[in-house]
Amino acid sequence: MPEHCPRCGFKFERAPGHYVGAIGVSTVVTFGLILTTLLVGVLVTYPDVPFFPIAGATVAVAIVVPIAIHPTTRLSWVALDLVLDPLRDGEAPGLGVSGVEPAKSPTQPS
Ligand SMILES: [Zn+2]
Repeated sequence: MPEHCPRCGFKFERAPGHYVGAIGVSTVVTFGLILTTLLVGVLVTYPDVPFFPIAGATVAVAIVVPIAIHPTTRLSWVALDLVLDPLRDGEAPGLGVSGVEPAKSPTQPS
């Protein structure tokens, strides 16, 4: 992931430690999928629940999911952070003050 948005120059990491929130999003999603894996595994195989296949699938989910969703959770955290704490003046030099692209000046060739 680049440090700045290539279009508007917005710096994705707004403050040091900003991505701790992304780890939180990743943790919530991963734990949800771990719980889903366990529940589906138990419900589908009940009453003869095979421990090792379900435990193996759960461990695989716990290892693969955080790695696979890392870019998505980082971007999701940036989006959520922008909803909660909207763009401030000067954070995106390529945009106007309100976050809308600046109008072209009459003298600017199109
Ligand atoms: Zn941008």
